[in-house]
Amino acid sequence: MKKLLLAGVALAFGVTAMAMGTQPADAAKKTFIAIGTGGPTGVYFVTGNAICRMIHKAAAEGRKTGRKHGIRCSAPSTGGSTYNIGQIRENELDFGVAQSDWQYHAYNGSSKFEGNAFKNLRAVFSVHPEPIQIIVGKGSSIDSWEGLKGQKVNIGNPGSGQRGTADFLIKESGWTKADFALAAELTSTEQSKALCDGKIDAMFYTVGVPNAGVAVATDGCGAKIANFDGPLAKKMVTPDRPYYAWATIPKGTYKTTTADVKTWGVKATFVTSATASDDVVYEVVRAVFENLDDFRALHKAFTNLDPKTMIKDGLSAPLHPGAIKYYKEKGWM
Ligand code: GLU
Repeated sequence: MKKLLLAGVALAFGVTAMAMGTQPADAAKKTFIAIGTGGPTGVYFVTGNAICRMIHKAAAEGRKTGRKHGIRCSAPSTGGSTYNIGQIRENELDFGVAQSDWQYHAYNGSSKFEGNAFKNLRAVFSVHPEPIQIIVGKGSSIDSWEGLKGQKVNIGNPGSGQRGTADFLIKESGWTKADFALAAELTSTEQSKALCDGKIDAMFYTVGVPNAGVAVATDGCGAKIANFDGPLAKKMVTPDRPYYAWATIPKGTYKTTTADVKTWGVKATFVTSATASDDVVYEVVRAVFENLDDFRALHKAFTNLDPKTMIKDGLSAPLHPGAIKYYKEKGWM
């Protein structure tokens, strides 16, 4: 009980000290933050953990030179985009990675969030592009979204961004789940094995390139990424949907990528709540951008990250004031 009380006092102190402005909170006063990611073989998991690494690096714990921000960060594996947004709203997570389309829909109360807008959702920055990928089993004749009709398809676990996007595209196509021989709800980690085992004909995945999960299916058992540039894609990528963009998965990305794959997709974005403290968000953003070269080196999907686009592209919720403070200091805004 006493320990608990002390922890409560330390936390309250931490928050007060951080709210006081320019000086980060004393390192002795810890602020714990949790970042929601995605499946353990995806890129969100790497993203969340890379952000934590930069935060801890900035602190240089135990050395005199580090920032005394007192932030301790963890980035557990989660169900993905819409799960993360929901948990941020419930104050169960402080930050999360989420697809740009779900950031848009959550803030604006559209699609799955109709009548249930999350007006306190705040953008922090965007990260890597996430092309929508239709990955078909070895030797399959499926070569488009339209070709998925009547097949055994993994549409993703509830809570994942790809599941939300798949549900949306099924509706836009005038289909229902009954139009598939099977609409499986496997996680991103389970689906590659199911494809290799022939339990499903195709899997639908919105994820950074390259990544370990897709490599299990492509390099591991000859699965291939189909083009997704037909009628539905053309209907979706329009100026009134700024959260979508055309994308190419370059030839040679995986063993079976023998030609450029033409598709479209979203951006991974980093989000929080308006209730997050300005000082914590400032320190998190600062840690990432001051160490951007180190951050980029942590995953191939991060290679082309550029602050100019990261503070703008794919962001439809307002930027958090803590992030704005840093971007202004840098002269980026
Ligand atoms: N785009 C996926 C989602 O929103 C996650 C992809 C990943 O784990 O990298 O759930």
